[in-house]
Amino acid sequence: MTLSLIGNPVKHSLSPRMHNLALKKLGYHGFYSRYLLFDGEKLACTFKQLKLNGANITVPFKEDAFRQCDEIQGIAKDIGSVNTIVKKDEKLIGYNTDAKGFILAIEDFLPLHSALVIGAGGTAKAISYALKEQGVRVSIVNRSAKRLDGFKKAGFECFVHDDFKFNSWDMIANTTSAGLEDGSLPLPKSLLEPILAQASYAFDVIYHKETAFLNECKKAKLSYKNGKDMLLYQGALALELFLQNKYDAKMLSKLMEESFTL
Ligand code: NDP
Repeated sequence: MTLSLIGNPVKHSLSPRMHNLALKKLGYHGFYSRYLLFDGEKLACTFKQLKLNGANITVPFKEDAFRQCDEIQGIAKDIGSVNTIVKKDEKLIGYNTDAKGFILAIEDFLPLHSALVIGAGGTAKAISYALKEQGVRVSIVNRSAKRLDGFKKAGFECFVHDDFKFNSWDMIANTTSAGLEDGSLPLPKSLLEPILAQASYAFDVIYHKETAFLNECKKAKLSYKNGKDMLLYQGALALELFLQNKYDAKMLSKLMEESFTL
């Protein structure tokens, strides 16, 4: 079994470690590598040239993957992006495991009535559609307007910082990379503080560190999670697909978990 992560950049990703550890524990002869791609148009032909059985696709190529797969399954059709490709009968089948990975990660917060998603990129899309599928009322706030168009067309309530209207949401989810490299917040503090005061839960997609956003959530006494479990579950769900559903994703996630401490 030959698997790979395809994206740009790929060098800091934990995915190879997670998948290789699980494959080893299961006794599979297989290897999960990483491939630095420069031209998204060449995604499908690169997959074929590398003779891969499956791949995970990361930034900035998830939409290219959606366009180039022969068939799209599940919620990826709504989201318009693919993070997992499986080869079946010479066809490339595309899935999005970020969405269900997120839902598994926030299982303790469910059921939710409403959520505010900060950011409007690919991860915001996966999270928003996953929540909508659970019957959650979802609003989106982004610093600029351009990426909100698709969300508006899909019926989500949308704001930019300047026209933001206060409301009460059960969960606030940060999907931006604000705070990844520095101490910045994804929303101005004057907007963030009052919405955190009304919320019960918070989630941040960033998984390497406790961000300034999560520190604010802690101060506001919310229950919160960082993106580590989402990363773990999206990987376990992808491996479940690579191994043709022979193993359950929750069991696979247990095999992968140790890779965070290696
Ligand atoms: P995109 O580039 O598609 O979107 C980024 C979004 O964040 C945009 O809406 C952008 O706004 C906004 N943004 C970026 N910087 C700031 C800032 N300083 N302040 C406010 N808004 C900002 O990125 P992705 O959605 O692909 O990825 C986002 C993050 O999610 C990354 O950090 C990635 O590592 C993480 N991630 C985590 C996963 C996990 O499993 N835990 C899975 C996938 C991703 P604008 O439109 O105005 O530019």
